Amino acid sequence: MKYYSTNHQAPVATLHDAVEQGLAPDRGLYMPEQIRQLSEEFYLHIGKLSFQEIAFEVAKAFFGDDVDEASLKQIVYDTLTFDTPVVKVDDNIYTLELFHGPTFAFKDVGARFMARLLQYFIRKDREHTGDNRIVNVLVATSGDTGSAVANGFLGVDGIHVYVLYPKGKVSKIQESQFTTLGRNITAIEVDGVFDDCQALVKSAFMDRNLTSHMILTSANSINVARFLPQAFYYFNAYAQLKQMGALKSKLTVCVPSGNFGNITAGLFAKKMGLPIDHFIAANNANDVFYNYLQTGIYTPMASKQTLANAMDVGAPSNFARIIDLYGDYNAITRDISGATYADNRIRETMKQCFKENGYILDPHGACGYQALREQLPADSVGVFLETAHPAKFKEKVDAIIGTDITIPERLQAFMRGKKQSIGMVNDFKAFKDYLLKQPQE
Ligand SMILES: *Cc1c(COP(=O)(O)O)cnc(C)c1O
Repeated sequence: MKYYSTNHQAPVATLHDAVEQGLAPDRGLYMPEQIRQLSEEFYLHIGKLSFQEIAFEVAKAFFGDDVDEASLKQIVYDTLTFDTPVVKVDDNIYTLELFHGPTFAFKDVGARFMARLLQYFIRKDREHTGDNRIVNVLVATSGDTGSAVANGFLGVDGIHVYVLYPKGKVSKIQESQFTTLGRNITAIEVDGVFDDCQALVKSAFMDRNLTSHMILTSANSINVARFLPQAFYYFNAYAQLKQMGALKSKLTVCVPSGNFGNITAGLFAKKMGLPIDHFIAANNANDVFYNYLQTGIYTPMASKQTLANAMDVGAPSNFARIIDLYGDYNAITRDISGATYADNRIRETMKQCFKENGYILDPHGACGYQALREQLPADSVGVFLETAHPAKFKEKVDAIIGTDITIPERLQAFMRGKKQSIGMVNDFKAFKDYLLKQPQE
């Protein structure tokens, strides 16, 4: 299958090129040319299938033309070594817990899949052309993306990952998840804020000198290989609700959103025939998309810092994909509603949900739960995505709801590792000089 750019000024690309380039040359985002419907047979039996079996069917619809079946199956099964269980939280409200992966956040699914897919293409290249150059993944992070990408790509031969993060601005738990790994993962501690890290990465992609010297790609949700696999768990949620007998005449899915990659994958699932009636994009105080839904006018702005910091995005990159998928404002508002919550409301929701349901929400999931409480229609069952384990935000969560939550052993293990990082001034020339010195084979 070919991939076109949302800006329509670049040639269509193969999957291999789209994954290796990240962003299209015209700065647009790649979209698959077709979205295939899954068979009625599949939906009829979905409740009986495992997560891996479901995901393999979905993966074939997107990647089946470009990856042979046995390899694709291997990639899917290697990625999904954990489940994404649906748990009842409140009357008619369920959560899809996406935090059972290696770094306890939903981004593990896309990061691992992308690493495996890229490895597949690199190996094929090596066999056919003898080209031994490595692929370099550059990722700027305010915490969660860096840990998921670093762990997803750890030990994958032919790929080197550089994680740029702002010095002193990520939590100890998050920092330990990408600075203690070593091997093909290099953590770069930038003397600046997250936006500076992102600017360094963007400048690198645009620097002709660098891009002719080394292969550079991104691993955030602009990359098709990271964002499309996120469709897998929407099908898994439906399958579990069906199996539990919890489905009603309608299904509403609520997604705590920042860059809108996660929800866009859900919109793709719906286009493939998954019976989701309505989506709610739940935002923190960064309300650019919410305002767009109210007014039809999209005004990106600088991000605001909030309690749910993985959603502190003022210019969501996947907005271009949503526009491309739907074509116009009216079509978008038929399928998607919005919600926006200030930190105070997030705190109240976390307290209330713990008190009434005994369920511990993290600040991101709290936005999703609250939006369903306010907007779920009576004839619909609701599912919100729990995007991170509350223990990743232990200090905040304990302070808000008065708990002392246990940090899972696998998370503690990271914190015992030895920090290794390269200090970097916030200056593109210094970053470029550093990259130019790194081995490329
Ligand atoms: C990345 C992230 C989000 C936002 O997901 P998008 O795909 O950027 O909308 C929400 N919650 C957590 C915990 C995250 O790490």
